[in-house]
Amino acid sequence: MAEFLTTNGTSFHIENIIMEAKSKLILVSPFLQISKTFYERLKDASNKNVAIKIIYGKDDLKPNERNSLAELKNVELFFFQNLHAKCYFNENKMVITSMNMYEFSEKNNREMGVLIDRHTDNLVFDKAVAETLSIIQSAEPVPLHKSSRQTISEVKPVTNGLKQKFQKQIRGYCIRCEERIDYNADKPYCPDCYAIWVQYENPEYIENVCHRCGEYDETSMNKPQDSNCYKLWKKEQKQNSF
Ligand SMILES: [Zn+2]
Ligand SMILES: [Zn+2]
Repeated sequence: MAEFLTTNGTSFHIENIIMEAKSKLILVSPFLQISKTFYERLKDASNKNVAIKIIYGKDDLKPNERNSLAELKNVELFFFQNLHAKCYFNENKMVITSMNMYEFSEKNNREMGVLIDRHTDNLVFDKAVAETLSIIQSAEPVPLHKSSRQTISEVKPVTNGLKQKFQKQIRGYCIRCEERIDYNADKPYCPDCYAIWVQYENPEYIENVCHRCGEYDETSMNKPQDSNCYKLWKKEQKQNSF
């Protein structure tokens, strides 16, 4: 028998559906944001060779989110503009709900959902699967290419007289919104994000983007670069002090 779910139950079962998927996982959600927890769950599923299809329909994925998804095997991404449904299923269980995918780790909204078991609610399960497949048919496949950002190893040292100098990095990324900004490890936010950050002024507040290379990693005002970029930055500081 189908089971009625409130917010907690909905998140719990969406997470379970991802974790317990054995061969197939389909996630239908208009809004797609890849939180760290969500990404880790997807990664586990992908490592178990689960075929993952994600259908979304609102705003563009950020380059980092796309890059992260591109690193997972067996993930197919589809865009369907008029998508409003939210439905998550593996080969056995399904949740149809008001909850968007990224919200499954948040507990702020009041959501409702229904848990459906393929064995006891076969007809409902099959109809929802058929409708999802029909959405996928009319959806646009989104290619998951890695963006060609200049990464550290690609920054070539230039020879200047006898002394070898590193090319100076001039452009960086806002550690919150990924916008391209001037590279300055003391100012890793764009003006908009800085205006929000400064209201709390928490130098340890975790962001998701490396200021230097723009890749997905935990950063903060205190530590705006991932460890590779930090090392390079240190090296440059040394070079500059000659
Ligand atoms: Zn920003
Ligand atoms: Zn970096």
